[in-house]
Parts: sequence; structure tokens; C-alpha cells
Amino acid sequence: GIGVPAPQPAGAAALPYQDPALPVATRVDDLLARMSLDEKIGQMTQAERASVTPADITNFRLGSVLSGGGSAPTPNNATSWADMYDRFQNAALGTPLGIPMIYGSDAVHGHNNVVGATIFPHNIGLGATRNPELVRQIGRATAEEVTGTGVDWTFAPCLCVVSNDRWGRSYESFGEQPALVGSMTSVIDGLQGASLDASGSILATAKHYLGDGGTTGGTDQGNTQLSEAELRNIHLPPFAEAVRRNVGSVMISYSSWNGQKLHGHSYLINDVLKGELGFTGFVVSDWNGIDQLDGATGFTAAEVSQAVNAGIDMVMVPTGWRQFIGFLRAEAQAGRVSQARIDDANRRILTKKFELGVFERPLTDRSYTATVGSAAHRALARQAVAQSQVLLKNDGNVLPLAAANNRIFVAGKSADNIGYASGGWTISWQGGSGAITAGTSILAGIRNAVAPSSTVTYHAAGTGIDSSYQAAIAVVGETPYAEGRGDRPGAMGLDATDLATLNTLRASGVPVIVVLVSGRPLDISAQLPNWNALLAAWLPGTEGGGVADVLFGTHQPGGKLPVSWMSSAGQQPINDGDGKTPLFPYGFGLGYSGGPPADTTAPTVPGTPTAAGTTATGTTLNWAASSDDVGVTGYRVYRTTGGTQTLLGTVAGTSYQVTGLTAATAYQFQVVAVDAAGNASAPSATVGVTTTGDSGGSACQVVYAVNEWGGGFTGDVTIRNTGST
Ligand code: BGC
Repeated sequence: GIGVPAPQPAGAAALPYQDPALPVATRVDDLLARMSLDEKIGQMTQAERASVTPADITNFRLGSVLSGGGSAPTPNNATSWADMYDRFQNAALGTPLGIPMIYGSDAVHGHNNVVGATIFPHNIGLGATRNPELVRQIGRATAEEVTGTGVDWTFAPCLCVVSNDRWGRSYESFGEQPALVGSMTSVIDGLQGASLDASGSILATAKHYLGDGGTTGGTDQGNTQLSEAELRNIHLPPFAEAVRRNVGSVMISYSSWNGQKLHGHSYLINDVLKGELGFTGFVVSDWNGIDQLDGATGFTAAEVSQAVNAGIDMVMVPTGWRQFIGFLRAEAQAGRVSQARIDDANRRILTKKFELGVFERPLTDRSYTATVGSAAHRALARQAVAQSQVLLKNDGNVLPLAAANNRIFVAGKSADNIGYASGGWTISWQGGSGAITAGTSILAGIRNAVAPSSTVTYHAAGTGIDSSYQAAIAVVGETPYAEGRGDRPGAMGLDATDLATLNTLRASGVPVIVVLVSGRPLDISAQLPNWNALLAAWLPGTEGGGVADVLFGTHQPGGKLPVSWMSSAGQQPINDGDGKTPLFPYGFGLGYSGGPPADTTAPTVPGTPTAAGTTATGTTLNWAASSDDVGVTGYRVYRTTGGTQTLLGTVAGTSYQVTGLTAATAYQFQVVAVDAAGNASAPSATVGVTTTGDSGGSACQVVYAVNEWGGGFTGDVTIRNTGST
């Protein structure tokens, strides 16, 4: 909603709660005092769109409607979403108090239930970017597309800290480190905007509270067996960060902590979240989550009171909402749920509704409808895809590929498949195959990237490849899944289709470049020696051009692993610092020609032009920290001369005074970013330096060849003798 004002009956006297000039708390108090128990229970009820009619909204005073994964009006497009929203909203406005409903949907990587929306990379790819500012912008773009369909609330971000990649929701995680996940709560700033009532802002949800990513065996909805200290150290920090950013709602996890279901966990919800962290928004249950409290199917009155008393304010009861209302009324009348608890839940929900401005502008703001799938948002998504690519292997610098005069063979089931590239939670809950929505497949991105002098031949299985091709790109990986259906308790390797395709390509003798489309690391140790290059593409979404940008080097790979990459499935769970030896460690990611760095921009000399090929004099190395530096505490400076690399030192700042150089000698310098735990980024681009060759000179003048962003040092050194003049 949050768009168009509702028509006011002529001469209607504004009640205090209807007066936008009054403070929100005053309006809430005034409204609460006018509400019956049934109206309050209605506010705490969230029903699924397919199980309610507008008349139900009016008659039962329902406070919220949701779309479950993939649930959409027919036809599924932005305009019919907006029309549907307005129908429900007008029904809510038609009640005596006219309290607007809010509509929630899982816009977890763009507005992914809507055909035509921009689909961004899933969170695991965004974690690889190490770029919270980019993620904030994605939040903003998503909020705009969501606003254009009327929807006011997304069930995102998922702040799970994934520990076991067997988990089917691993890709919904930004990574295995609490600090990395915490840094990506910047998405909340984008979703909720400068203020909730600013145009184009929606309500965000931090989910799933708490410990969903830490279940034993990586089982979805499983049991997280950790000490309280471990739970707090690993899983709580991102939620603390979300609360600090004023996240409007928090969704409870289906999982248990040491055997006790989170949906009934008063200590973790009431004491820790609302008490300690000071969360003032409202807590929503997961889909039928309260039904799991007693282990039996079908919810009971006792489950309802247990959940509400544990601190759940709004209950997602997609189809069973009538029953829920009856149970909560009975429990309240019997005194098992106090009036104070019901008022507190309502206060929290109504506060967010007032803050959203939905009382003033309850209908869809259709000025945003055209932003759904807009060129600007697709360009942002493409940038995100490019930044999320992690280059894991590049033997013989087979990448980047030449765009001109090249013969490229493309194969693999995921090459021409937007559904596969988007993964679960795309148009349908489990995701789909093929052209399920508009976008650019990875294959199309490759075709768009090459010059007319190149040929691109595609065959999914690799049939027809011969040695005349200069490279073979195999786009392989996982097919879509969501939640527990994606759990992989057994083998975690590639499927038979992919293995056959890879064998065909390998047999041709053409260098094989593997682009892996997957929601998590796969067990690839046995195949890796056969591949010349490996690019982890994660689940990039609809803008496959971003993968091509990296393959052809118009964007340098800078992504870093957000999770440790197992060397065998039996290592799961494998995490940084646990003593196991991964195939690729957390934070790993190559650049082209040893650069650019993942964490730093290339060293430059201050006050001088930085274009490739320019030169300048100076004796200090300077480099720039970039906005994607996460937890960087210092930089190691390396010097290479005569084939020997020496660590000169570690500095906290971004410059280093070069001393002790000898005349007429060539040196190279590189910078590596490190964090407190000693994790190191990939090295920066190499800066070549040659000192003057004046034999009588005592002060050697260092001349830098500034060589930005990869491509290697090309020898643009000016030797200038100033030492003895
Ligand atoms: C998922 C949630 C999601 C909800 C609503 C549940 O099955 O666990 O993440 O927000 O469905 O679609």
C-alpha cells in the first residue's frame, strides 16, 4: 500500500488515531482504546491470500494477508498484484475502525513471486561480494518493485549463519561468519529506507530467529545443539545488528534449540529479543509454525497460548486462521492469554502500521509499478552478479576469454536456463526450469558479450565439440529447491547429466571452464583436476550478463568465498578455524593475473593520474580501502625482487613508506588485507617499481608504474635519475 489516500467520507471528524500530526504512540493508544477483543485478535492473524476473500477481511477484521512461496494472482504480473492488494485493502478500510491490513511476501532475492520482476542473486552470492553498500542498493530496488505491487512487507532478510552446507537453505545465508552476515543487514536500510513512511519503503523481517543455520546435520527445521554461549556468539549477532537498524519484524524459526521449539521459546523471544536486544517491532510466526509445538498435526488452543505467551505477536496461520481466531478468543477469555499480552502485541503491530504511513496512504502507489523489472534494476542486478562471482581456479590464465576472434563452445544444463540460475523461491516456491520469467540466461549473456568476429556454439550435452574450439564453458550445477527439499544428507556432488557433459567436453582436449550454478559448495574434488578454470556463480538470478562480464574480463573477479569449500562431503560441517582442511578456505577468491585484490583497490600514488600506463614519482605506496572491506584490521605489504617475496610489515593504515631499496633494481609490491582472525584477502594487483640506475646516486628515486585493476604489470616504468643531480 503506502501510496494513495483512501477516500474520506465528507465531513468525517478525524479521530485522534486518524490524525497524522499526532505522535504514533498517541495514535496507537487512542486506537487500542476503541478496539474490541475480536478486533485485536484479528490484528494478530495473518492468512494466505488463496484462503481468504475480501469479505473475510472485513468480517474477521484480519490484520494481515500473505503470499506464500509462489502464491500469486492470475495473471501473475505487477498490475494484477496491485489490483489484488487494493481489493483486500479496501475490504479492511470498510470496517468500522478502518484499520488497514498489511500484505507480506517473500521478496527474498528481488520481488521473486512476481513474473517480470528483477531477480537478484540469492544471499550466498551477495555474501561473496563483501559489499554491504551494493546489498543496501539491492534492498532499495527490491522495495521499489514491492511497493509497485502494493505489498508493504517482505519476509527478508534471512540472517541465518550457515554452518552445514547440507542444509537446503544454505543459499539463503550470506555466509558462515556472524560478522559477514551482520554486515549484510545493510539490506534492511535499503528495504526500510530512511524512514518507513518514506515513499518506496517497505517493512523488513529478520529471520529465522534463532539458530536456524546451526541445526545438527544441516537438517531443515532441525535441532540446534549448542551451548548458550555458542548460540549467542554465532547466531545472535546478526539479529542484534538488525535490531540496531530498526528492523520492523522478526520471524521465528521452525527449528529447536537443544530440543525446545523456538515458536514456544519465551526466554529467547521475550527475554533475549524483546528484553536484552530491545526489539520494539513485532514478532511473526513462520507458516503454521505454532502447529509444531506439541508434535501432533493440527494446532490446538494450548499451542496458540504457548506461542502468544512466548512473545509471538502475529501468527501466520495460512489456512487455519478461523480456527486460530476461535482458539485465541477462548484462551483470552479463560485468562490463559492476558489482556496485557494482547494489547502489547497489538501495540507493536499497529505502531509499524502507523510508521509505514499505511493509514494515510493505504492503496498501491502505482508510480512504482513500472520499476518492476526496470532496466535500472536489471543493471544493478547484473553488477551484483559480476561482483558475486568467485574465481576458484584459473590454470594457465585461461580466463579471461577474448571477446574477439574466438570460437567458444557452451554446454551444460544450466547454461540456457533462467529457472536454474535463479534457484528456489523464484515464481514458485521450489523454483522452476527454463524461461519462467524475463531475463538473460548465462548463455545469452555470453552471446551478447562476444564480438561479431567470434562464434558461440551451444549444445547442452556438449555434442559436437571438437578441437577447433578455443574454449569450452560448462555451466553445470544444482537444480532448484527450497527449504527441506534441498537438504542433502548424502552425496553432495554433481549429477550424472553434468558429469557426462563434462566428460564429453574433456575428451575434446579443449580447455574446460566450469561455471558452477549452485546454492552451496559441491563436492568436486575428483573432477577439479580435469578443469582448467572454475567460477562459482552461486544462484545469480535473471541477469546472466554479469557472469559473462567476468568470463570476458570486463569485470575483474573480486568475489570471496562466504563459506568454506569442503574437500569431501564427509567434512560437513566445515567452517573456518575448525581445523579441517578445506578444498578452498573461507575468503578465498582469485583475481586475474594475481589481481585485483578482493579487499583493496590497487595501490596508487597520491596526487597523480591513476590510468594504466601513467607514471609518477614518490617513495610511499598508497592504496585505497574499499567499501567492501569487511572486518579488515590491517594490510600486509609484500615486496618481490629477484624472485623472492618478503613481507615488509603489516600496517593499520593504507600507506607504506618504502625504504632500503637498492639502485637499479626492479621491485614489485603487493598488498593483502587481513582481519582480526588472520584471514587474508587475495593479493592486490602488483605495482612494479624500478629504482634509478645512477651509480653515484645515494638517494634512489622510486618511480611507480601505476597499473590499475589486473592485466598484470605491463612494464610501464619510467626510470628517472634524480639521485645525483
Ligand atoms: C518459510 C519462511 C517463509 C514462509 C512464508 C515458510 O515455509 O520457512 O521463510 O517466509 O514460509 O512463505
